[in-house]
Amino acid sequence: MPRVYVALGANLAEPKQQLDQATAALAELASGHSLRVSTYYRSAPMGDVPQPEYLNAVASFDTDLAPIALLDALQAIEVAQGRTREVRWGPRTLDLDLLLYGTQIIDLPRLQVPHYGMQQRAFVLIPLAELSPRLQLPCGTLISDLIDADMQRAVQPLPPT
Ligand code: ATP
Ligand code: MG
Ligand code: MG
Repeated sequence: MPRVYVALGANLAEPKQQLDQATAALAELASGHSLRVSTYYRSAPMGDVPQPEYLNAVASFDTDLAPIALLDALQAIEVAQGRTREVRWGPRTLDLDLLLYGTQIIDLPRLQVPHYGMQQRAFVLIPLAELSPRLQLPCGTLISDLIDADMQRAVQPLPPT
């Protein structure tokens, strides 16, 4: 059964509650008790749209769902939590991006895996490395080789409550 990694992001309507609720929904997709979730991290928004700071995390789990069925399930969770799409990289209650699906490389109209932006985004790489410090991407790159000090400084862990 493939292990998948999902990036979570929220910056509207109580972001911490959005991530907590999304985590509970992802547990329903996970086989057995395979779900693991990183620390939540605060990060600055990407792009030029003025908007609140983000809360980000990464989850990993094992699943029987095929890639498109998994994308459908992730988008259903986004919609259930009030996600709308107005402007690219605009504010959102919840974003769920499929980072990795086992070791597969997927190139479909609706789904590209590994996620195209993951290698450049501190708010993805830092929580991902927290979950799996020795992770290797399908291209062979080690996650530890993608993270530098600037990336470490770009996100702030949220103290556990
Ligand atoms: P970005 O993708 O740069 O992080 P975003 O997450 O805000 O931006 P969305 O509006 O959430 O972008 O997604 C746009 C489309 O991306 C979705 O409709 C989906 O079909 C497509 N998509 C392609 N690959 C993926 C993936 N790996 N995970 C999630 N969505 C994907
Ligand atoms: Mg995204
Ligand atoms: Mg998305």
